[in-house]
Amino acid sequence: MPTRSLNLLLRDICRLTGADWAAWLSLEGPTWSFWAVYGLTKAQQRTLLTYLQQPQLRRWLESISASGKRSTRRIALNKKEVPAVRLFVFPETVGSRLLVVGASALTAEGRRLWQSLSEGGYLLGEETESFDRNALSELWASSYLPGALDRLLELFLASLECSAGWFSILAGESLEVRACRHCGEGQPLPLRLEMNALWRRILDTGQPLVLSPAWPEWSILPQPCCGVKARFWLGQALLIGKRPIGIVGLWLEEEPSRQLYRRVQKLAREYAPLIESSIIFADVSEHLRRLALLNDFFLGLSSDIDAKAMARRLLWLLRRAFYTERAWIFLQWREGGGTWGYGLRPDGSVMEIESAPIPENALKERIGRWSSLDTESAHPPFYAGSQSALVVRLASPQHVWGFLGVESERESAFGVYDEHFLSVIAAYFVSLLENRQLQQETEARARKLSLIHDVVEQTLGSLDVRQVAQTAAELIAKNFSYELTGIALSEGDDFKLIGVGGSACHALSQALQDTSFPVREGIVGRVLETGESLLVNDVKLDPHYLPLPGWDAGSELCVALKDGETVLGAIDVESSRTHAFTQSDVLMLESLAGILGSVIARARQYQDLRSTVDELELARLELQQRMVAQQAAETRLFQAAKLAAVGEMAAGIAHELNNPLTTVIGFTELAFESPNLPDEVRSDLAVVLQEAKRARSVVRRLLDFARQTESVRTRCDLNEIVADALMLTHHLLRTGGITVHTRYTESLPWVSVDSNQIKQVILNLVHNAMHAMPEGGDLFIETFAQARRGHPGVAVSVRDTGVGIPQENLGRVFEPFFTTRADKGGVGLGLSVSYGIIVDHGGEIDVFSQVGQGATFTIWLPVESEV
Ligand code: ADP
Repeated sequence: MPTRSLNLLLRDICRLTGADWAAWLSLEGPTWSFWAVYGLTKAQQRTLLTYLQQPQLRRWLESISASGKRSTRRIALNKKEVPAVRLFVFPETVGSRLLVVGASALTAEGRRLWQSLSEGGYLLGEETESFDRNALSELWASSYLPGALDRLLELFLASLECSAGWFSILAGESLEVRACRHCGEGQPLPLRLEMNALWRRILDTGQPLVLSPAWPEWSILPQPCCGVKARFWLGQALLIGKRPIGIVGLWLEEEPSRQLYRRVQKLAREYAPLIESSIIFADVSEHLRRLALLNDFFLGLSSDIDAKAMARRLLWLLRRAFYTERAWIFLQWREGGGTWGYGLRPDGSVMEIESAPIPENALKERIGRWSSLDTESAHPPFYAGSQSALVVRLASPQHVWGFLGVESERESAFGVYDEHFLSVIAAYFVSLLENRQLQQETEARARKLSLIHDVVEQTLGSLDVRQVAQTAAELIAKNFSYELTGIALSEGDDFKLIGVGGSACHALSQALQDTSFPVREGIVGRVLETGESLLVNDVKLDPHYLPLPGWDAGSELCVALKDGETVLGAIDVESSRTHAFTQSDVLMLESLAGILGSVIARARQYQDLRSTVDELELARLELQQRMVAQQAAETRLFQAAKLAAVGEMAAGIAHELNNPLTTVIGFTELAFESPNLPDEVRSDLAVVLQEAKRARSVVRRLLDFARQTESVRTRCDLNEIVADALMLTHHLLRTGGITVHTRYTESLPWVSVDSNQIKQVILNLVHNAMHAMPEGGDLFIETFAQARRGHPGVAVSVRDTGVGIPQENLGRVFEPFFTTRADKGGVGLGLSVSYGIIVDHGGEIDVFSQVGQGATFTIWLPVESEV
């Protein structure tokens, strides 16, 4: 009866060979039925059986059963009904069952595996007589477990009542002892036996061969031990059909009988398929174990694990896959990533390797296998005492990454299969490294883009070059974890450090303040001079390097900031590590420098434009001021001209009137003195005299106005002149109900003036104020120092609380003969005469007034600047 483990066996072989399902069919009466099955549901099993009952297929199966030759054909069934495309049928050698396998395709190895199962299958069936069926069934089920071969040997020897012996298996051109009892002890298995005439003869004849110590070949046999007294040795080929798979060797105390010969021959034939299956299963299970390890290794790698951690894990994988504590890896990273390596210690921990364990050209092929290092090795093993080694080159078409090696204290510890496995591991690991490199490059590219984006975003709007440099320096340092970033820019004829960033920026912040910092020296200086980028992997080896206090640099990268061919400055990054920057950093900084260069050039242009605009604005203001001054000068000139004309005319009229008036007054006085004048006439004459005198007074004032005489100027105190004038009007003001408020600024600078004329001006202003306040009011008089248009001077203001001057008259009050008081005796000469006097003194007189609020007249007189 098939056991559950048999079904599991079918499952495992299905998995190994890539088959969809497998069924062991036995013929019961006229129909086929399932003896063991894996991979088919009950319904699918029924469909398959019905399908196989078709006459054509029945005939096909019968022919296979009869001929004992395996066969294959396509299944004409829907894939849903029974999975798989083809049927592979393997007949049993001894029994009549058929092993039917459903698969799309089977490799030669896969077919061999199924074939060996079908060949040994009868041992599990009822036809087997010579064995303990239960034991064999158990063996079959566990024949893919380690130790199955030993168990087979034990059973083999037990059935012959023999205590010592071995199974050896053909492996290429030699034999490998894979199991032994009481012989060859102490030697690790598999033990290699080189092919020789003796083995060849046993294998070729298929007959038992007996040796005694007398034979010379006796010495090459793996000897028995543990007190086994062997006097004879019997060797028998293990054959499957006619195909030898190995040799069984038996140690005997007595000379073997013919009967024993036959038993050995029969047993060897029956055991051979089992032994082969067991070995295939052992190899396959070892293969599976390694695949599982490999699988675990790859599943355990998360995306963020770095290459060094990957390398350490790889060593642990090798340790478990090759049962050795002697494994190492050495890598040379691309582009300045440096070289590093790891090796296992005897306790399984990981140590760092300083230099490559093997020379670069040690491997002629991709992989090297040394079975005996003493004699064959072109180089010493990495671990002292290693006898054999397997070294694979970790290489992709683009790059040799390094080497991976496993070593063993045993000779010939590594076979072809190990070679393949290590190659697979190496290929996978290289693809991981390439991926990691690609990922790093992609990340670097993404970082580069995001940095460029950040820099552009944050500096594009800014037109302040210093701010652009500082922001860029900080962003570069932040995005790339550079420890020190500096940006130097040209200012005037020299270069200055403008922006710094990074965790070590304190080393440069002093230099930022220091305008004499030698930017033109060191590596930056060379870049500024040549405009070419410079990457210095180890600054200690570069004579140009300029050390900074408080900063221990390892490597430095500097690129020029250019606008076209003009070098505007440089971006400099430094790291405390040597070899910290890669070619990709150079490219990134260069492209960033391109963008920054144009941003800075643009900002500079803007700044130049700005200062031109500022200069123009200043010129415009100056021009405006000049125009105003010119206008004022013209007005004054016009005023002066008008005054001069009026003066001339007035002088003429005055002279003309003065004489007749003198005559009138003279004669009137004479007539007045006449004693006998009637009173009426006398009073009339008095009126004539009074009016004539009044007329003469007007004429005199006209003459004053027109007087061309030189004024007499002395250094005077303005306060005194004002006080004198007020003394004269004191009485009038008081009677007019006017309160006077004075405020004299002490220690006013002296002015050089004609004090009488100035006094006259002030009197005039006070009189006008009085006229403006017929009902009385307040008069405020104040003196103070005042500079006008940069010229020092003194001023006096006369403010009343009178009727004020309407806006339309403000511009006319200084005109000669402008008066609003014609009816009250006003002639309109007071202010124009005052104006003439003040202008004559180089001073100014102006008025400010609002109707109803009073008026303020201010006289300003320049102080002669001390020479
Ligand atoms: P007059 O006093 O003879 O009219 P002025 O030349 O002194 O001649 O004054 C011209 C005019 O200016 C005056 O008629 C008056 O309208 C105006 N004025 C002068 N000072 C004042 C003042 N303090 N308040 C109001 N109006 C004034």
